Amino acid sequence: MDTAAYLIIITVGLLFGSFTNVIIARMPAGESIVSPPSHCPYCHERLKAVDLVPVFSYLFLRGRCRYCQESISLRYPLVEILCALLFIGVYLRWGLTITTISGCIFSVILLAVAFIDIDHGIIPDRLTYPGIIIGLALSFWTLGFLPALYGTLAFGGLMFTVAFISNGGMGGGDVKLAAVIGAFTGITGSAVTLLLACFSGAIFGVIIMAVNKTGRKTPIKFGPFLAVSAYIAFLFADTITLWYLGLF
Ligand SMILES: [Zn+2]
Repeated sequence: MDTAAYLIIITVGLLFGSFTNVIIARMPAGESIVSPPSHCPYCHERLKAVDLVPVFSYLFLRGRCRYCQESISLRYPLVEILCALLFIGVYLRWGLTITTISGCIFSVILLAVAFIDIDHGIIPDRLTYPGIIIGLALSFWTLGFLPALYGTLAFGGLMFTVAFISNGGMGGGDVKLAAVIGAFTGITGSAVTLLLACFSGAIFGVIIMAVNKTGRKTPIKFGPFLAVSAYIAFLFADTITLWYLGLF
């Protein structure tokens, strides 16, 4: 692997991470993600191009707005770095293929979903509906259209049934996210995602219950678990399936 390819992927990853921050900040409020141009959330000063260089402008400005000196959340550069790392992971697994492009788009969607769900407890339709369409469209060059369609219908359908039975215990956003995951990863990927998400969600739930001795029932947001699991499934579903079947 040559350095140039890594530099390109890291740069593209950071830029898409910056775009992901815009999605996370604006989409839950129903705002446009293209206009108005980026501004400081405190003083609303419009940011110059030099203020928008991922990670570096944060470091250069020492985490403060150039105009009002208000401190900028460390999460902005972290999301940018995280996005670059996710892109590298996809590239290391899938190389120079359409699957890598698909995986990078999938990563942005999952990253945005996870943080929006953590912040607001919702998963916007404006993220999931395009996600389903993009996943299905790209599937012609990746896992094949029918496997993607079956994944969408099976995982979406399963989660819809769970949401229906649990009567609000699982949100409609999770159902649509499952459909997105099905479109990008197919049946196998969906199965691995569900397994990992339930497993990690259950462990997290037990920890929360142990820490939270008040006995107050706080609903666990399932979106972030689905998102992390889906990314792992996109990379390693086949390996995990073979390992799992080997257990029996
Ligand atoms: Zn400011």
